[in-house]
Amino acid sequence: MGDDLLLRYRDELARVTQTEQQEERSRLEDYLEVIYHLVHDKGYASTVDIAENLGVKPPSVSSMLQRLAAKDYLVHEPYRGMRLTEKGEKIAKSVIARHSIISELLLMLGVEKTVAYQDTEGIEHHLQPVTISRIEGLIDFLRKDPKLLRAIRDHIEK
Ligand code: MN
Repeated sequence: MGDDLLLRYRDELARVTQTEQQEERSRLEDYLEVIYHLVHDKGYASTVDIAENLGVKPPSVSSMLQRLAAKDYLVHEPYRGMRLTEKGEKIAKSVIARHSIISELLLMLGVEKTVAYQDTEGIEHHLQPVTISRIEGLIDFLRKDPKLLRAIRDHIEK
């Protein structure tokens, strides 16, 4: 392989690895988010519930739970259920906060609930704290000025 080709190959490899890491991070956040909600709403999170919520099969949930436990995001005791560790809960709360801010903006702009939910799930992993905080500021501003929000809605709904 020529030097040029080798460099391009390395570049491509780095890109692929980065994408994979991002996907893995998104998956991890989705799991922690769902487990947090289940434990808080139902008192426990079962593999079946997690699978249903994430639209995946129970066996993939089991293997992911093992990985999350190995990385100290949750404690999983057979027959006694699972709970998030402090480390896991911190991430869960962060993604839930991002979720609520993004979906609030979309709903404010009149995006229909189902679409807002789907898009929020897609976006929530990819925004950095500085962007989230800007969106939060915008929401705050629009909330204090319903007339302006009405004008914006009228404009974009035409
Ligand atoms: Mn979410």
